[in-house]
Amino acid sequence: MQLVFATHNLHKLEEVKTLLHSNITVLSLKDINYTDEIEENETTLEGNALIKAKTIFKSIQENCFADDSGLLVDALNGEPGVYSARYAGSQKNDNDNMNKLLDKLQGIENRKAQFKTVLALIFNEKEYLFEGIVHGVIAHEKKGTHGFGYDPIFIPEGFSKSFAELTSSEKSLISHRSMALKNLITFLQNK
Ligand code: IMP
Repeated sequence: MQLVFATHNLHKLEEVKTLLHSNITVLSLKDINYTDEIEENETTLEGNALIKAKTIFKSIQENCFADDSGLLVDALNGEPGVYSARYAGSQKNDNDNMNKLLDKLQGIENRKAQFKTVLALIFNEKEYLFEGIVHGVIAHEKKGTHGFGYDPIFIPEGFSKSFAELTSSEKSLISHRSMALKNLITFLQNK
């Protein structure tokens, strides 16, 4: 079985490939020579994942999937959510985003948050959504150097270290992205 993953991000592609079984071949947008940026202007993770998958399907008419992820903070009514990448502005700077979040949470006791990934799959012309969630809390300060995004300030439930203090293989055992992928893989294996 062959699937196109609607991403330009080679790191994500590798992550997906390590989780997928050998009977599923994943191609990136680069592999199919698709170079355009895909708009992500919906107001939900589901909407963005679907718009990306639909855009690619329209272009290639082949089974494909796309992802969208974000950090949802309870005390901020789910902020930054779908705006996680550009929380502190269009420059999409990880440090600025974390500083803005830490500022907003100053003096707030409830630090609960979750990372969520939504995968939209178009398989045999039908649309399916899969999600993965990892619960945790927002730390009071940044710790660790691994990973990206909000990793230095997110402490997953059951751990005392931030995502950025875990190795990439430790993180991928519990991450929102791998949970969503496992759900997608289980679906495909039953096809
Ligand atoms: P994307 O949809 O995977 O590109 O994620 C959008 C934004 O959410 C990223 O730019 C990060 O700011 C944040 N994010 C998503 N996943 C993670 C993660 O695993 N660690 C830290 N930040 C993340």
